[in-house]
Amino acid sequence: MADLSGVQQAVLWYPPSYDIRVESIPIPKIQDPDDAIIKITLAGLCGSDLHIYRGHDAVKESMVCGHEFIGEVLALGANFKSQGQTNRPALYSSLKVGDKVVSPFTVSCGECHFCRIGFTCRCPSGRLFGSPSTPGGQAQYVRVPKAGGTLYSLSGAGDFWSRSSQTNVNARPELADSSLLLMCDILPTGVFAAFQALNHPKMLPMSTGLPFPASSFRADGLNGSEKLGSEDTILTIAVIGLGPVGLCACISLLDMLATCQMTFRVVAVDLVEARREKMKAVYAVIDPSGKGTGEFIVASADESREIVQKWTDGMGCNCVLEVVGHNSALTLAYDLVRPFGTITSVGVHGASQMPFTGRQLYAKNISFDFGRCPVRAMFPMALELLVKRQDVFGDVGKETSLVDKIVGFNEAAKSYEEFDKGKVGKVLFDPWK
Ligand SMILES: [Zn+2]
Ligand SMILES: [Zn+2]
Repeated sequence: MADLSGVQQAVLWYPPSYDIRVESIPIPKIQDPDDAIIKITLAGLCGSDLHIYRGHDAVKESMVCGHEFIGEVLALGANFKSQGQTNRPALYSSLKVGDKVVSPFTVSCGECHFCRIGFTCRCPSGRLFGSPSTPGGQAQYVRVPKAGGTLYSLSGAGDFWSRSSQTNVNARPELADSSLLLMCDILPTGVFAAFQALNHPKMLPMSTGLPFPASSFRADGLNGSEKLGSEDTILTIAVIGLGPVGLCACISLLDMLATCQMTFRVVAVDLVEARREKMKAVYAVIDPSGKGTGEFIVASADESREIVQKWTDGMGCNCVLEVVGHNSALTLAYDLVRPFGTITSVGVHGASQMPFTGRQLYAKNISFDFGRCPVRAMFPMALELLVKRQDVFGDVGKETSLVDKIVGFNEAAKSYEEFDKGKVGKVLFDPWK
């Protein structure tokens, strides 16, 4: 058993706001037989860390920050045994000390109704790392509760590579840790936004080429419906917000549209010019097989209204992906979406009121999908995209990289400050640097 008696370095936030300190605190210990202690190799600084940083969450006590981390198993609770675990998630019998793991940003048990059906982010045992109840991963070590359901092992049998039809164990790709770190949150969240939007029932007339309701579930008796023409099935989509998650959403959306050979037009929107430039640079390096033959335009908010107006003769977008988490983004989404359209929102919203009236929603037959990504369930799909799109996800610090730089904890306070002011993009911490 590893020695867990010492102290470690960790990044702590202090109330009320804007106060980041690196301190020595005890190494976490196994508290429950389902726990694992992870030695962290890289931790991410994420846009949603800024809610706490700015004091918006009204947290009253100091806490260890960070919900994105990868590392190696240092110690396992008593429920991790090599035999007799047939009714529990496979990791309780296969995970070993030294295995490389990626953690989703929330805990999920892997055993309840929500976990079984894939809605893992709403597991009743769920907790958010880097919150008052659950110390985060911007540290040298972290305790992962319900680790057999939560963690994703990159070693051992039963992982993505041994099951995937795309690759086999012998051809397991070498992925940089900085690339794998994207799996904790931002890449699965981007994939989720795109997947949820394209799979919405209101998209069925466009994807099946049949009018509603023949396009829909259990409409067998309506099979004689005439096929729709191309002017009705072309998809027009807006993505609002081009931070790291928005970039991942665009990359994923383009990949899905290309794979399904859909005819499409996508407008990618952000208020900040630097983010728009990054999106353009990323789009330019994506291999043609990953972006299809549709139109893709990067635009400001005002430009996006004109573009969608022109493209659709005033009808609006079939769906809008909202990746900001602010009422101004929701208002733009409402303006851009067409009647019977859908708005998929994965931004973290803190506003007490939505910017719509019931009358506005009724007037457009709008569908909304809101909320957190079930990362654990989206993991295989996101990993497949990570492997495929190493042209974008493989590097650090380039014009087209999602990760700007990797720094030590000595730059933690400065990194939070610069990230908060928009002076730097995604930063990762190497706790051993
Ligand atoms: Zn995050
Ligand atoms: Zn669960």
